[in-house]
Amino acid sequence: METQIIDGKALAIEYQEKIKTQVAKMNRTPTLAVILVGNDPASEIYVRHKRQVAERVGIISELFQLSPITTEEALIAFIQELNANDKVDGILVQLPLPKHINADAVIEAIDPNKDADGLTSANLGHLFVGTPNLVPCTPMACLALIKTVCPILQGKNVVIVGRSKLVGKPLSQLLLDENCTVTQAHSKTVNLKKVCREADILIVAVGKPNLITKSFVKKGTIIIDVGINRLKNKKIVGDVEFDKMIGHVSAITPVPGGVGPMTVTMLLQNTVQIAQKRQKNN
Ligand code: NDP
Repeated sequence: METQIIDGKALAIEYQEKIKTQVAKMNRTPTLAVILVGNDPASEIYVRHKRQVAERVGIISELFQLSPITTEEALIAFIQELNANDKVDGILVQLPLPKHINADAVIEAIDPNKDADGLTSANLGHLFVGTPNLVPCTPMACLALIKTVCPILQGKNVVIVGRSKLVGKPLSQLLLDENCTVTQAHSKTVNLKKVCREADILIVAVGKPNLITKSFVKKGTIIIDVGINRLKNKKIVGDVEFDKMIGHVSAITPVPGGVGPMTVTMLLQNTVQIAQKRQKNN
């Protein structure tokens, strides 16, 4: 079987061109405030990349790098300032936060109308009751990637491994809304291999290299690998044994170059959505 490698970078560039056109038509420049607490090297790389892509499409990205000893109260107070700042459209808090800060409380402090990551309970609630507003970026990225190889999703058996608030749970809702039959697996799932073998589309968002081997996957499946794992030799890999899937599955996303570039792009799409709504309301 010929396996199609789903090119997330190419799709991201296509989406970014559309975003750039939308931004050019606006009479104000969308602004994204990015908050980074501390100096975790991986987070610094992610933030730098997000800001570079933002600039490329004409979005102003302001970085606020706060000390690693910032208290939860101070961080929340800072977010409230950004909520009230008329110049700021989207707000993004780079995760993970240092251990002394409750990330859920911090996310909840973001004005849901400026929630570029779509992670506040208000926005997740909208998604779950069928009135989506700002939708989390990685699930939207996965859906866009799947649609490049499978435009009609109705009736497909989808298995999602992972049930985080960031990826697994909202993705499950997006795929239910596409009339898929969704199974959500997690660390307590019994016989993960058997569950995964039922999938027409298998999405893996766990964070464990080589968790999914060829024997977990029936021939012809579409695989979306969300995982990002840095090996001891510094190589970045996903959760799926990529090489072994070639010739066995119908399509697969690579890591890097699959879900990652599209996730960043969806963040910018959300920022433009916020800015357009604010422009209309002003
Ligand atoms: P979390 O750690 O929040 O969630 C991981 C999920 O995996 C949990 O639901 C957990 O189950 C499940 N899990 C853990 N071990 C197993 C196992 N052995 N079998 C089955 N399920 C298991 O991670 P995130 O959702 O935030 O991220 C997942 C991965 O995706 C990470 O590698 C992260 O770096 C990557 N990521 C990539 C992005 C991108 O842009 N490409 C964006 C966001 C994340 P339980 O709930 O039972 O604990």
